[in-house]
Amino acid sequence: MKIDILTLFPEIFPGPLGESIVGRAMKNELLEIRAFDLRNYTDDARGTVDDKPYGPGPGMLMKPEPLTRAVEDLATPDTFVVMTSPRGVVFNQHLARELSKREHLLIVCGHYEGVDERALSTLIDLEVSIGDYVLTSGNLAAMVMCDAVSRLLPGVLGADQSSEDESFTEGLLEYPQYTRPPEFRAMKVPEILSSGDHAKIAAWRRGKAEQLTRERRPDLWEKYCAQRSQESK
Ligand code: SAH
Repeated sequence: MKIDILTLFPEIFPGPLGESIVGRAMKNELLEIRAFDLRNYTDDARGTVDDKPYGPGPGMLMKPEPLTRAVEDLATPDTFVVMTSPRGVVFNQHLARELSKREHLLIVCGHYEGVDERALSTLIDLEVSIGDYVLTSGNLAAMVMCDAVSRLLPGVLGADQSSEDESFTEGLLEYPQYTRPPEFRAMKVPEILSSGDHAKIAAWRRGKAEQLTRERRPDLWEKYCAQRSQESK
């Protein structure tokens, strides 16, 4: 898979993505992440990418021309173009999985107060937010998306680190896990986990996952229950 990032700050990539699991995936050529400088697509000596908004209001907006030139240069008909934006659909594991099936993603990092609406409406396939808060730019949002998408690509996680059985995969949060020692500060590992009875352990884990989801994420719990009652019809 190829992920291209269009940004005013290409030097901050790959940054944390160059380390550990995602870094290894890039070294093993399972994934290519490249950052492109939006200023290379300007046509004046000063490399102007922003301008004042029409109508009253503070700040600057990204101009449509450099952005349009850049996206038209970097995207092919198969490219899925994502714009980072607090107005976008909220990123989640389901969207990460959908994006991981694409051959080529182009993630555009916004800056300033936002982007000229005409550029947005003609260039962008999907506006994506990483949560209900406002960042100074889209770079960290792009990194978050790259990280979550990368670990879903075949071969990126080792056989011992599956992405099948973890939080959100089935609409539930993950169950509690334990490692050695068997007793730590007078707290014992639940006996059932050493019982060797795989069916019982699976049932215990599901019960715990359901309990945690109900307590911590009523929104997810509601969806999970609705899904289950749909399935049993
Ligand atoms: N005035 C805008 C916010 C601009 S923040 C508004 O009210 O919606 C500057 C840039 O940071 C945005 O263009 C976007 O690319 C990025 N950004 C900010 N918050 C984000 C979020 N929650 N998710 C994804 N990108 C975000």
